[in-house]
Amino acid sequence: MSSTASGKNGTWRNWGGNVVTRPAREVTPASVDELAEALRRAAEDGMKVKAVGTGHSFTSIAATDGVLIRPQLLTGIRKIDRDDMTVTVEAGTPLKRLNLALAREGLSLTNMGDIMEQTVSGATSTGTHGTGRESASIAAQLKGLELVTADGSVLVCSEKENPEVFAAARIGLGALGVVTALTFAVEPVFLLTAREEPMSFDKVLAEFDELWAENEHFEFYWFPHTGSTNTKRNNRSAGPAEPVSQVAGWIEDELLSNGVFQVAQWVGRAAPATIPAIARLSSKALSARTYTDIPYKVYTSPRRVRFVEMEYAVPREAVTETLRELRTMIDGSGLRISFPIEVRTAPADDITLSTASGRDSAYIAVHMVKGTPYQGYFTAAERIFTAYEGRPHWGKVHTRDAEYFAGVYPRFEEFTALRDRLDPDRLFQNDYLRRVLGT
Ligand SMILES: Cc1cc2nc3c(=O)[nH]c(=O)nc-3n(C[C@H](O)[C@H](O)[C@H](O)COP(=O)(O)OP(=O)(O)OC[C@H]3O[C@@H](n4cnc5c(N)ncnc54)[C@H](O)[C@@H]3O)c2cc1C
Repeated sequence: MSSTASGKNGTWRNWGGNVVTRPAREVTPASVDELAEALRRAAEDGMKVKAVGTGHSFTSIAATDGVLIRPQLLTGIRKIDRDDMTVTVEAGTPLKRLNLALAREGLSLTNMGDIMEQTVSGATSTGTHGTGRESASIAAQLKGLELVTADGSVLVCSEKENPEVFAAARIGLGALGVVTALTFAVEPVFLLTAREEPMSFDKVLAEFDELWAENEHFEFYWFPHTGSTNTKRNNRSAGPAEPVSQVAGWIEDELLSNGVFQVAQWVGRAAPATIPAIARLSSKALSARTYTDIPYKVYTSPRRVRFVEMEYAVPREAVTETLRELRTMIDGSGLRISFPIEVRTAPADDITLSTASGRDSAYIAVHMVKGTPYQGYFTAAERIFTAYEGRPHWGKVHTRDAEYFAGVYPRFEEFTALRDRLDPDRLFQNDYLRRVLGT
């Protein structure tokens, strides 16, 4: 997987292949000063600006036909502070590099998402999350942030310094400025024991509250057209480490999760009628396993099958009802869904436009393999999610607009007022932000 999104002949293309743009200019600043200069030049030339990460968003949130700021030269660890237990990194640092560097220092983030290809700034800007009972998104682990705003000035913020900016800019959607450095809370590296186990969909729904309450990190994948799920429970462990062996890891993660899954997707795309049978086989391919390892090796794994995704956060207490409706919709629709549906949770946090802002949340993610029509499925799923005041992931496909967000985010106007203050001329505007935040 390439470390940054790119396209051909001057185009920029996201990982999912569903967003393609042609920026007028590309800049790869190597310092905060060079970045500030690039912003000043763009403003003088009357051009819009967008900083991108690795293009792992499925929405056009990172798209621009103006100046594209690439992250490659703003990478690396600035400082590890063992008294405060924080690490400060340059904004373009890939999560993978951060995780490896922290592990070498005997440190770790508390929680993370499914992959670690994204940049730290890209991941936090859209609210990237894993699953957790007490521990929340990657942005919720931030202690500080450095931002270059539209006028070229550098703004440092934390709970104590510019707290109103910190409240919003941790998940800033690229709308408030260009993030140049992020300070994360870290902890001594720890071990997690992962228990992966098939379980019936009805049992997971019936016992969801207990499964959530009894585990630090509970998630599951449901295979549509079947009554089967794969559950995953990650809990801290005193050890010893018992990693997945290289051979078993290759068979389970590469061959079954990526290789066989890819073939199943090709067959399903060519002959949609076979999908329910393939789904039944896929749901049985992975058997139970238990392993113990350091956090990033348990939380993340490679995703080689390209797909397009929609994910909504609904109030946690509504998750089983929402999933039952989703099952009824799929069963009655004639849709053929070959990709499992992923369900995760997050506790309420205090970030203005976090999908879990002020609300204990459950995430439901629907996927379609790249190249297959997804609109019918996603539209029907979105109708169900929005009936529960769902909040879409900012980086995953959705059709909501500013009017909708004003209704589901109690602090929406706090964010737009800050944007008016920091970017009155809309240097960081693009079509996506016009839709979700207003002009
Ligand atoms: C295979 C795959 C797996 C995924 N797994 C998960 C998951 O487990 N959990 C989850 O929540 N999401 C997941 N996602 C979604 C992904 O984490 C987010 O879309 C994330 O934002 C992508 O990061 P990126 O570095 O590619 O940023 P991009 O998509 O390139 O950009 C995202 C946003 O960040 C802004 N941005 C980037 N850099 C800066 C900067 N320096 N200053 C200001 N703004 C900036 C951009 O302008 C844009 O608004 C996944 C996506 C894929 C493709």
